[in-house]
Amino acid sequence: MNEAVSRLEGVRAAIASAEREAKRPAGSVTLVAVSKTFEAEDIRPVLLAGQRVFGENRVQEALGKWPRLKEEFAGVALHLIGPLQSNKAKEAVALFDVIETVDREKIAAELAKEIARQGKTPRLYVQVNTGQEPQKAGIDPKEAVAFVARCRDVHGLSIEGLMCIPPAGENPGPHFALLEKLAREAGVEKLSMGMSGDFETAVLFGATSVRVGSAIFGTR
Ligand SMILES: *Cc1c(COP(=O)(O)O)cnc(C)c1O
Repeated sequence: MNEAVSRLEGVRAAIASAEREAKRPAGSVTLVAVSKTFEAEDIRPVLLAGQRVFGENRVQEALGKWPRLKEEFAGVALHLIGPLQSNKAKEAVALFDVIETVDREKIAAELAKEIARQGKTPRLYVQVNTGQEPQKAGIDPKEAVAFVARCRDVHGLSIEGLMCIPPAGENPGPHFALLEKLAREAGVEKLSMGMSGDFETAVLFGATSVRVGSAIFGTR
């Protein structure tokens, strides 16, 4: 078996076991396979194995491989998980099914404009900088609930969930718990949290999707 495919099976099994441990229904967590830096030929076996949900962090890179792969494989849902520049909003809306990194007013406005223009409705998440790290994208946790409301009331955008990337080397648990609390306050249902090193913990804290790259595709 292809190495990535056997690792994919392992990740699936680990998610299923974390769901049982958390007493959550089987299948309640969506696996987003993060294929950034990998080529179409590395991704194809994972698609052939049935995986349909993928994450990419750069619009330009995703444009180089996914239009073709989406033609080859029906039912792909592509998530943008990296920072979005407003001059890329047009291409992002055209290519991605889910945009997880809405984190400021200008992006919300650009996305609203493109969504209206293209008649497409990507599902949207607000990224929260739970660790308040200056170098990291995401809205400050103190502003997150109000920002979700402004996306809805000012820009007419429906926000489906929240996303976070906890600071490297910190216990992720408190960050996952904070994201869950903010989602409840904001009245949104989905939680995108957990990566290769901590996706099982994220499932215990209520993640509805986990973004797993290196544990499937190997080291970058
Ligand atoms: C790269 C990336 C991931 C996946 O990271 P791994 O540690 O390889 O699983 C998840 N989320 C975001 C936002 C990323 O950029």
